Amino acid sequence: MRTFFKHEMTSAPADKRDKAKAKLKAWQTLRQLVLLRDKRRCRVCKSGTQVDVHHVRFRSVLGPDSMSNLASICRCCHAEIHLHKLTLSGDANGTLKVTRC
Ligand SMILES: [Zn+2]
Ligand SMILES: [Zn+2]
Repeated sequence: MRTFFKHEMTSAPADKRDKAKAKLKAWQTLRQLVLLRDKRRCRVCKSGTQVDVHHVRFRSVLGPDSMSNLASICRCCHAEIHLHKLTLSGDANGTLKVTRC
């Protein structure tokens, strides 16, 4: 029993690490595609500085990792979105609706 446990303990993290790595790589590829589609410009203010990728429907509420749910947003607007001063809705592949509260 003791050896079995030991084996479990040493093999599990390596497998997990590989999965995490694969996931990270997939995310980085998707992120690049989103930035390319948006020409590295913020979808809210069109600024080209410190642009990052944002989930239109937050991941915390099960927003999918897909092009239609991801938009390029600059640091400034991104902060406002997460402070709930700005709300994004719609399809990032089409028209995104920006609501200012
Ligand atoms: Zn912006
Ligand atoms: Zn965000």
